[in-house]
Amino acid sequence: MELIFASHNENKVTEIAALIGSGYTVKSLSAIGFNTEMVENGSTLTENALIKARTIYQATNKNCFADDTGLLVEALNNEPGVYSARYAGNQKNDHDNMNLLLENLKNKSNRNANFTTVIALIMDGHEYLFEGKLFGEIITEKIGSNGFGYDPIFKPKDFNITLAQMDLDKKNTISHRAIAFKKMIDFLHNFK
Ligand code: IMP
Repeated sequence: MELIFASHNENKVTEIAALIGSGYTVKSLSAIGFNTEMVENGSTLTENALIKARTIYQATNKNCFADDTGLLVEALNNEPGVYSARYAGNQKNDHDNMNLLLENLKNKSNRNANFTTVIALIMDGHEYLFEGKLFGEIITEKIGSNGFGYDPIFKPKDFNITLAQMDLDKKNTISHRAIAFKKMIDFLHNFK
């Protein structure tokens, strides 16, 4: 069965295609020639994932899914959350975002945070949601050069390294996105 992933990010598409196994073919928006910008103006990760999935379902009438991820920091009332990509401004710069977060956490003793991914799947017009979380803490400086986003300042629980020091294969076994993807894949394998 063909499934459209409402994303232009080929890395994510490759990651999910490798996990999903036989029986499903995952296609990106670029692969189906959908180039319209989608307005992610929801106030929660769930709303944004649903906005993207519904946009693609309405445009193509094909089964599809969309994901949305944010970093939720306890001491900052779960910010930056839905604003993670543009926390320090519309330039969406990872270093600017990390610098602002470190600044805002400067006098805070609670450094607990989690990455949360929400996936919205639409099958034959029915909507399903899946969530994955990775818990950890925000350290006080950037360490490591792998990955992207907030990886250099996020140390997962039970690890003594940041996500940016972890190799990608390992990150892909513990990440918020991997957990959410696996929940969706288990669901699809039992889908009649
Ligand atoms: P998206 O919904 O996957 O585009 O993620 C939104 C933003 O969250 C990204 O621009 C990053 O700033 C951050 N983010 C998402 N996933 C990760 C991750 O695995 N590591 C670090 N930052 C991430």
